[in-house]
Amino acid sequence: MINIENYDNENIFSKILRNEIPCDKIFENEYCLAFRDINPQAPIHVLAIPKKLVCSYNDFIEKSDDESITHFFKAIREITKLLNLDDGYRLICNTGVNGGQEVPHLHFHILGKKRLKEILP
Ligand code: 5GP
Repeated sequence: MINIENYDNENIFSKILRNEIPCDKIFENEYCLAFRDINPQAPIHVLAIPKKLVCSYNDFIEKSDDESITHFFKAIREITKLLNLDDGYRLICNTGVNGGQEVPHLHFHILGKKRLKEILP
């Protein structure tokens, strides 16, 4: 079962942050890294992750200072501009078991360039 309380340094996104495994990076700043999902569910499917080692949305909000939180969410807006998602997009943050979270490092899915109806991903 996924553990969203204690950070697992061996999770795949932690390895991506440490450059131990590659990613198709589209954005990076002090607070955020964004790269394309390996199994895209829409023409644009990007994952935005904080640089801070946090398991989940809960963990991020509870353990981060306001400045880090603000900069992370502003980075997501920058990414949607970079991706030209002018016609709209969907942000998804699966959290915990019932949320269907598989990778225990906070990530926001950014999906676009398709009219999304069904629940994804
Ligand atoms: P979750 O279900 O945790 O919200 O989403 C995890 C996402 O990570 C999935 O959409 C999955 O395709 C993606 N993913 C898993 N492993 C890798 C990887 O090694 N590289 C990339 N770019 N995406 C991954």
